[in-house]
Amino acid sequence: MINDNLTMLRAAITQAALQAGRNPADIKLVAVSKQVSIEGIRRAIACGQTLFGENYLQEAVAKIPHCLGVTGWHFIGHLQSNKVAQVARFFDMVETVDRLKIAIALDKQVHLLNKNLSILIQINVGGEKQKSGISCDDAENLLRQIREKTDLPVRGLMTIPPFSPDPEHSRPYYRAVRDLARRFADRQLFSDNTNVELSMGMSGDFPVAIEEGATIIRVGTALFGTRQLKEMQ
Ligand SMILES: *Cc1c(COP(=O)(O)O)cnc(C)c1O
Repeated sequence: MINDNLTMLRAAITQAALQAGRNPADIKLVAVSKQVSIEGIRRAIACGQTLFGENYLQEAVAKIPHCLGVTGWHFIGHLQSNKVAQVARFFDMVETVDRLKIAIALDKQVHLLNKNLSILIQINVGGEKQKSGISCDDAENLLRQIREKTDLPVRGLMTIPPFSPDPEHSRPYYRAVRDLARRFADRQLFSDNTNVELSMGMSGDFPVAIEEGATIIRVGTALFGTRQLKEMQ
């Protein structure tokens, strides 16, 4: 099943990219493996999937050492200060940084561990109270502060738009985050301003996200099937 899903997913990514006049190779697929067993992850690895994302730290820490062949683990869950040490140790990218305090704590761990960890800034593009992420208005200040106070490479922005069953509803939000990233790149606020990552798009709306410039899409359900309801975001 995973093999077929992955094949369909790759075809859909290619189609959306070509339709938008983009190179399909510029889009990275993060397989969101929350609630997926080690076996399930291994099957995806056997099908050539090498990038994975996890939301829940304890679950991830129990699985990661048993999943060989993964080239990158992205942390995509809500981040608390007391979890930063383990996140820095087990992950390669943290997509959900939204406060200076967390960035400083991560930076400290990265120095202790002497490892590479890159981050994205999570944007709460819909201004939803229940969601993590910094507002569009406050993001620039956060980026400047992180640059001034840490050595963390800020590679780009990540967002989760307000939920809707209609993927077209996501489009203006994705466009807004893309425009924000362009503005920040013009102001040289990222670690590599010619190669800015935009993590946006999930199972229900990734083609729209690709059309609007996503370089990272985070897909769980379309790859691994439906999860039990246990969402915490
Ligand atoms: C669960 C999750 C995803 C994947 O969602 P699907 O709809 O299953 O593809 C992507 N991003 C984040 C932050 C998530 O929590």
